Amino acid sequence: MILDIKNVIKDYKLSRNNKFRALKGINLNFESGQLVSIIGESGSGKSTLMNVIGGLDNDYQGDILIDNKSVHTQSEKELDRYRKNKIGFVFQSFNLIPHLKVLDNITVALTLSNVKKAERIKRAKKILKDVGLENHMYKKPNQLSGGEKQRVAIARALINNPDIILADEPTGSLDSETSEQILGLIKIIANKGKLVIMVTHSEKVAEYSDRVITIADGLIIKDEKKAEDKKMIIGEEKINIGKQNLSFKDAVGMALKNMKEKLGRNLLVSIGASIGITSVIIMLSIGNGVGKYMNNTMNEYVNPNVVEVQQLSEESDQPDSPGELMTTESKPFEQANIDELAKIENVDKVELAYSKLNFRGNIAKIGDKESSFQILNTVSSNITKENITSGVKPESGEVMISANLASELDDNIIGKTIDVEFLIGETKFIESFKVSGIFGDIAQSGMNDFSTVFINYENLKSLAEDQDVVIKPNTVYLVTDDQDNVNNIKEKVLALGYTGSMEERLLGMFTEMLDVVTYILAAIAAISLVVSAIMILVVMYISVVERTREIGVLKAIGARRKDIKRIFVAESFLIGLSSGLFGLLVAVLLMFMINVITSNLFSVDLVIISRNYVLFGILVSVGISILAGLAPASKAAKLDPVESLRRE
Ligand code: ADP
Ligand code: MG
Repeated sequence: MILDIKNVIKDYKLSRNNKFRALKGINLNFESGQLVSIIGESGSGKSTLMNVIGGLDNDYQGDILIDNKSVHTQSEKELDRYRKNKIGFVFQSFNLIPHLKVLDNITVALTLSNVKKAERIKRAKKILKDVGLENHMYKKPNQLSGGEKQRVAIARALINNPDIILADEPTGSLDSETSEQILGLIKIIANKGKLVIMVTHSEKVAEYSDRVITIADGLIIKDEKKAEDKKMIIGEEKINIGKQNLSFKDAVGMALKNMKEKLGRNLLVSIGASIGITSVIIMLSIGNGVGKYMNNTMNEYVNPNVVEVQQLSEESDQPDSPGELMTTESKPFEQANIDELAKIENVDKVELAYSKLNFRGNIAKIGDKESSFQILNTVSSNITKENITSGVKPESGEVMISANLASELDDNIIGKTIDVEFLIGETKFIESFKVSGIFGDIAQSGMNDFSTVFINYENLKSLAEDQDVVIKPNTVYLVTDDQDNVNNIKEKVLALGYTGSMEERLLGMFTEMLDVVTYILAAIAAISLVVSAIMILVVMYISVVERTREIGVLKAIGARRKDIKRIFVAESFLIGLSSGLFGLLVAVLLMFMINVITSNLFSVDLVIISRNYVLFGILVSVGISILAGLAPASKAAKLDPVESLRRE
């Protein structure tokens, strides 16, 4: 291996018109197996030269050739590879990653190359043995002495088996005895066939070298070659470097290790961010619960095999006589309508019904007790056994009355005869009926429920005919023998221009409103997601600033921008995932608590979390978190490695 440095000039830009020339035209060439010392006063340009050689700084004039191949004009990708596979850096201040164990510090470069874990560890252990640290591999850097730290740094520089080791004042922070040991180690490395270029202050250290280069003010002023030892060039096996990419799994692993270091902070951020997720899930689930409750309540006392059909009149807000309110909404059915409905597939029976709401003149009497009622209704199959609290449906000459009406008249009314007065149009009817049964349950009916008298349709029709009044049905019930047909029948009914029951229409309107309200509430809750996003953004930025040096180190050992970005994105992914899971957990706990209360008070489960909300919550949390992490991650990726390493 031959390294050629050709007329390298390096200018630091200070401002737009000012620059500082730190290297003023350097020409050097090196061969494998040499230990070269570079000495010079502080500020003479030694570190600048090392950064240029190591590919940390690509902004210079001139050229650097390795085996006659330029590394200057290379793409960023190739430059990353060059740093990773050809160069090993050793720094004065060690630059170990403080939160990683010795073993992990050394294997980072392999992780960045996507080498398998077992292989990483095998290789790291061998090299740790070579530098005499096999007993310290599970320690963290701050549990080591200076000399030991520098050995770790040397081991890290060696792990990818590079051709060139660049050591910038490797003994600058060590006492003389430890320095000797480190220099001995470096000498061995050079003897094994690598090119070691070492910056040093001390002439004594330079004595170890095969060649001493003196630099002053950005120029080489002396280049002294010593009698060369015989080198035994031991070719070390090149490891099989995989795809050269940091895998997402390893990125998550590295992110996890880092997050453990700042556990308290990351937990707090996750909890903070989870509040938004919890509120959104709870809002959606309350909407869900209320909607389901409404549906169930409506379906509870309805015969599932019966479809109620009504026909809305166009001028529904014009009652045809005073006192008639709600029934004016539904238009009477003609025979043609009834025939049309009867033809619908799977309809086995068509039942006609008549219902009339009237606020004056409807009176039920027994003995000297009397009470007014509001609705005259006919019985059909839609009234199930569950609706009838006691007794049976009325036959001809009988009526069933609602529980609230019964309680007004007589506690024990079944079988007794009552007198009923009611109006149809302007015609007054006064008839006697035997009470056959009681409809509904007082405990379950609300205060505003209208009192109702149910009569057999045929019975009502013939009573009306006696007084020359024609009754036309205003509700039709379609009965089918199989519940599975109900939805098809309902669709056809609507397609023919009829409507369902008033309850169904109200429920439809209510559900629409409920959806709107639910989404508005969820959207309001989602504002807290924006707050979480900003929180995550800030924490990630802080993390980038704190770890600037670490990012510099990672770049020096060959991390690509993409890898750095991936590590930070993995971190925001983890924050998002944990806050999503935490938010979900809290939402589920809240669900149980709220449901215990509401089911005790109203026998209703108010909050129903569906699987979709769970998925949605976690996806949103992860998504927002990753989005928030993108900007800090690319900031980290763009950091200039030379500047990052200079940072204290
Ligand atoms: P050495 O390592 O020999 O002590 P450096 O290579 O660090 O010296 O610096 C060489 C010269 O370049 C010094 O005069 C220093 O002030 C200057 N220099 C180094 N880095 C920068 C920078 N980022 N911007 C401007 N000047 C710089
Ligand atoms: Mg320096």
